[in-house]
Amino acid sequence: MWEEVARRIKEKGGEILTGYTVDRVNSNGKRVISVEASGDKGRRVFEGDYFFSTAPIQELMRSLDATPPANVLEVSEGLVYRDFVTVGLLVRTLKIHDETPDGKKLISDNWIYIQEPDVLLGRLQLFNNWSPYLVQDPGTVWLGLEYFCDEGDGIWSLADGEMVALAKEELSRIGIIEETEVLDATVIRMEKTYPAYFGTYDRFQEIREYIDRYENLFLVGRNGMHRYNNQDHSMLTAMMAVDNIIAGVTDKSNLWSVNTEEDYLEEKNGSGSQSSAN
Ligand SMILES: Cc1cc2nc3c(=O)[nH]c(=O)nc-3n(C[C@H](O)[C@H](O)[C@H](O)COP(=O)(O)OP(=O)(O)OC[C@H]3O[C@@H](n4cnc5c(N)ncnc54)[C@H](O)[C@@H]3O)c2cc1C
Repeated sequence: MWEEVARRIKEKGGEILTGYTVDRVNSNGKRVISVEASGDKGRRVFEGDYFFSTAPIQELMRSLDATPPANVLEVSEGLVYRDFVTVGLLVRTLKIHDETPDGKKLISDNWIYIQEPDVLLGRLQLFNNWSPYLVQDPGTVWLGLEYFCDEGDGIWSLADGEMVALAKEELSRIGIIEETEVLDATVIRMEKTYPAYFGTYDRFQEIREYIDRYENLFLVGRNGMHRYNNQDHSMLTAMMAVDNIIAGVTDKSNLWSVNTEEDYLEEKNGSGSQSSAN
């Protein structure tokens, strides 16, 4: 989908630059004038009429040229994130299966929360069940073992080989695979996976009031708003920001009201796949 979006943007004369990190936001106190970014091709300054930020809010606050008041910085520095390591295991077969009238089938779950207290594994994904296109050989199963952690802690710091060994051992110990069935493995570390609702989050309003004063700066998405947003919410915030600009609406409260329904994350939906902790 995003490749198609990129194609259409370019078709209309837009430019997409990747590999740049914005580390300075220049303003006149009311509006953002430009951002400065470093990348493979050196440092560049980008001027613009409107700026959308998906950078973690803590990093955005550090990059503002006008230093925010001490209380606002205290809140942004106190925001907490949870990090995440996922181990992909390609296996020939699982030891567990669904019984159907047609015989044994691959279990139909997209993911399974692991409750056993004696393993560190928190959740297991079956990529085959998200989409068959995620698995080259449909006779095999790509599993994703998820370890929730903090950047730099014991799990985060394990070498790839140790991480794969741990994943294989734990999954075999709880009876889901035989270690000998593993054909391939990969390890991915994802920082700032979860913007947490603890730390200084209860004072988040202080950041919001400060940053919303920049009339042409829009905080959107997940870490951009420090909100536990799924993809649909994240896209919606950006779309609403565009609608606001077109309609001349300067108040940003509608953006902050996305994903505030308390029951959303626990709601059971028909597919059973998109609710809950992503
Ligand atoms: C492990 C995991 C599983 C998930 N599962 C699901 C799911 O099943 N369903 C679902 O709906 N959602 C899921 N989500 C949530 C979904 O991924 C997010 O809601 C969505 O990607 C957020 O979009 P975004 O544009 O805000 O952020 P991102 O997709 O994270 O994009 C932010 C972009 O900003 C760039 N960036 C950050 N800082 C800077 C900077 N200073 N300069 C330049 N660029 C910068 C980053 O490189 C990145 O490209 C999951 C998230 C994670 C981490």
